Amino acid sequence: MTLQCASCDQRSSWSSQPNIGPYAAGNILLSAGILFAGASSGKVLQVLNSIGVVTHVKRTFFNHQELILQPAIKKVWEEQQRTHLTMLQVEGQPLVLGGDGRADSPGHSAKFGTYTTMELVANVVLDLQVVQSNECLGSYHMEMEGLKRMVELLISWDLDVGVLVTDRHRQIAKWICENMPNTRHCYDIWHVAKSIGKKLKAIVKHKDCEDLKPWVQSIINHLYWAAVSTPPGEGELLVAKWKSVERHIQNIHKDHGDLFPICTHGQLQQQKKWLKQSSRSAVKLEEVVNNKSLLKDIAMLSGEHQTSKVEAFHSLIIQFAPKMYVFSYIGMLCRNLLAGLHWNENSSRPIATTQAGAERYAVRYPKYKAGGHVVKKIATEPTYRYVDDLIREVVAGCRQTPDERTPLSVTVDVPPFLCDELEKPDKEEAIAKHRSRFGKCEMPSR
Ligand SMILES: [Zn+2]
Repeated sequence: MTLQCASCDQRSSWSSQPNIGPYAAGNILLSAGILFAGASSGKVLQVLNSIGVVTHVKRTFFNHQELILQPAIKKVWEEQQRTHLTMLQVEGQPLVLGGDGRADSPGHSAKFGTYTTMELVANVVLDLQVVQSNECLGSYHMEMEGLKRMVELLISWDLDVGVLVTDRHRQIAKWICENMPNTRHCYDIWHVAKSIGKKLKAIVKHKDCEDLKPWVQSIINHLYWAAVSTPPGEGELLVAKWKSVERHIQNIHKDHGDLFPICTHGQLQQQKKWLKQSSRSAVKLEEVVNNKSLLKDIAMLSGEHQTSKVEAFHSLIIQFAPKMYVFSYIGMLCRNLLAGLHWNENSSRPIATTQAGAERYAVRYPKYKAGGHVVKKIATEPTYRYVDDLIREVVAGCRQTPDERTPLSVTVDVPPFLCDELEKPDKEEAIAKHRSRFGKCEMPSR
């Protein structure tokens, strides 16, 4: 077998050998290819076998994964993470971070949670913490646990968090307020806008409130404008700008208050009907706009940085750890780290160009636009240099002595299985009970 190194175009000398250490080169490289692409070993081996290609069995894949591949992933990730943290340490600037948790399954009974910390200026995944639900008080607390571990890591590197942008998570906001006094905690606009949008859409369904319908999108746009146009740390001004929307759509554009007395728009060419003062919709809108809890959150909106990239990264994790498969703790950790390596290499890809050098765009018609369209940049194809680094580590791992090869279960604190906490019945007894119960049932005839 001869492989071409994708990034540097140098033929790897080891790949022409029949064996790498005690491992058959074709077998270990096939296992590596499957895992590093985020694929399923069962499916890939089945595809190859079904067209007559003889491969090793699934058990061998899992042996390769445990002894060689997973340690390689962890090593390459840690080296990259160390490089990023060292660079940030040298720069000496307070960090601008986005953080968010992701559950491995929908609902409130997820087994694993991943807390992602992204450095938003460089668009780099700085840290990934995988938390199993029995390491904390349950699925709901996994995000918090991940955040605490991330903060511990940054403290150990003597790094200061200047800004942390998150979604609206009350428990996390309280913890940051109490434990990170030098950090400005901000909320992502989209999450707040989504919640306001839901409330407004509920109002327009009420009788006599249809006149608010044409204004819903304008009110959301106003929230974005208020956040983006306000300097960081001026929460009160941001709130004053937000509140002015209520008067604006009643055709009142001045005397809003001391902080933001007058609308900043010029002459209006109004197409929409103004809301009438004291009308039912105006009263209901007033309740939404001046909701105390909402105003507190609006004061914390981030105008400059958002968590949309963190959410895009969480979508990428699905490619490496699909929610339909069950993974062990280490399996989940390593597939998350692979997603991190892929993101860090590909998140800032330039826009693709035609042969004539023109930038390429695509027009899409997403369902949420209800017939409308969006224009998106087409990025250049992703690259996989990180796979070359991983393969190099795999080769080095194969050439180690058996004593030197250490599975991650030895070096990583693996939490106990969730089922360890359960009272287990005697297997034979349980099977006998099952058979006696279901043996009596007759299958329905068709
Ligand atoms: Zn106005």
